[in-house]
Amino acid sequence: MLHKHISEDTSKTAHGHQTVLSKSYKLLADNLQELTLKGEFDDGSQQHIVTNKHYKIPEAGLPSHLAYTFLRNELTLDGNPHLNLASFVNTTTTEVARKLIMENIDKNLADNDEYPQMIEITERCVSMLARLWKADPQKQPLGCATTGSSEAIMLGGLAMKRQWEKRMREAKKPFSKPNIIMSSAAQVALEKFARYFDVECRLVPVSHDSNHHLDASKLWDFVDENTIGCFVILGTTYTGHLENVEAVADVLSQIEEQHPDWSNTTIPIHVDGASGGFIVPLAFSDAQMADFKLPKWGFNHSRVVSINTSGHKFGLTTPGLGWIVWKEDSYLLPELRFKLTYLGGVEETFNLNFSRPGFQVIHQYYNFMNLGLKGYKDLFDKALFAARYFSLALLESDEFQGNFEVISSIHERLDDGKPHLQDFVQDPESFKPGVPLVAFKLSKKFQETYPDIPQAMISSLLRTKGWIVPNYPLPQSTDGSDKWEVLRVVFRSEMSMDLVQLLLTHIHLAVQKLIKCSNSIPEGLSVGERRDAIYNMMLILASPESSADDEASHHKRKNYRGTC
Ligand SMILES: *Cc1c(COP(=O)(O)O)cnc(C)c1O
Repeated sequence: MLHKHISEDTSKTAHGHQTVLSKSYKLLADNLQELTLKGEFDDGSQQHIVTNKHYKIPEAGLPSHLAYTFLRNELTLDGNPHLNLASFVNTTTTEVARKLIMENIDKNLADNDEYPQMIEITERCVSMLARLWKADPQKQPLGCATTGSSEAIMLGGLAMKRQWEKRMREAKKPFSKPNIIMSSAAQVALEKFARYFDVECRLVPVSHDSNHHLDASKLWDFVDENTIGCFVILGTTYTGHLENVEAVADVLSQIEEQHPDWSNTTIPIHVDGASGGFIVPLAFSDAQMADFKLPKWGFNHSRVVSINTSGHKFGLTTPGLGWIVWKEDSYLLPELRFKLTYLGGVEETFNLNFSRPGFQVIHQYYNFMNLGLKGYKDLFDKALFAARYFSLALLESDEFQGNFEVISSIHERLDDGKPHLQDFVQDPESFKPGVPLVAFKLSKKFQETYPDIPQAMISSLLRTKGWIVPNYPLPQSTDGSDKWEVLRVVFRSEMSMDLVQLLLTHIHLAVQKLIKCSNSIPEGLSVGERRDAIYNMMLILASPESSADDEASHHKRKNYRGTC
């Protein structure tokens, strides 16, 4: 985007030809008129000119109320965050939290001298998370607040890289070709770490049988002496499945046993808990995790050295907060720490960024105090119930008649028995743990009956109702499942059951509309007939559902009336 705007004044190439890009931009710019606003303004002036040069800082500023109005108007074009079901990032803040945020909005988290209490509160949060993730307080866990999980993942990866270099240096072996292992379901932040810090990224392809996440049995082909560590994702972004720390660690042990000559052993695991770091310990009991064959997913597993999470996802703060914790002080080598003298003592810093807002940390601590373990669990239980209910409705309700398959697994019983709605409430412990999201797709049967209906249209039709439900392909796989596309709905805590019901209704209407479109095109048409058929199909898509039945005969009048 940006280069388009900057190139505005240099829209001619060396040969005097305008590029297509700058041409279309100039057209846009020329068509925008300067807008003169008349009236009495704060500064006593009578008129203000708002120019079309939105991409340059104006010479003189606008009065605050005008600048505010312009911005507010422009931003109404953005989506409604509550209906954005594509994102894990929290979109609700309570009145009281907002008050606390506003009171602390000017504080800088890097300013230890000025805000010692805020630094103390950060340390309390780190300590709370370390306990939640089953660290041994005797081992002096250490951590920090970051801008999000991405920064936390960079730090976690970097710490593993430095540990590996140290081992190899001590063994007098080369350390110029580090690699890191992660599944192809990794979020982009994990691959970014590898690219930004010169580590070869070894992506292990997934498969439907491995729940579209890391298949430990595949590690044999990827791990070697230069493997600095494994990223294990506690809740993949694609399908919400939890990768299995224990299975990965077991295979790593077997591989290391086969190579007694390696100087790099006990290859560490960093757990990416961006989405699951709060959900797993707060929503699922130890017994349930044990039934799921994942009793040790945190610092109680010897290979797990660090864990990150996003405060702004299920930690329920506003965007801009992540956390990383190392289970022992020794995992973060001194070369990554900077010592700052502060208030007569010495404070260490090890983030990538220095200055950043401090209010999010305060918000996080407020949430811990205000919700407690029970408050968080109640909210997550509600979200999980909504997601499970939604899955069952897609699979079993009369409206959908087998139109959908569900790829996520939180609605499945641990004993693989048939799920029943009442058990979601009465016996939630008997269901599979995972992040509260539903990834679903049109069923094989549906696709065979209506091969010409692209699943992405469901996403587009839901967008017209305000819902943002993404449709995307599954990660790179060994079994062709990356050719499948899924629709994904994240159930954040504010997704109430009436909204779930409404969403189901809108999905049903979208599917009906698409079926009607598909049926409207007969086979063996001439070019002209085909054009008419497609025109009618587009018309059905553009019209309100209620008028769909008698569309063809009255469409013009109805469409005009419907526009205001
Ligand atoms: C969201 C997410 C990230 C990135 O986290 P940010 O807080 O947005 O930087 C990384 N990994 C997973 C699994 C995620 O869901």
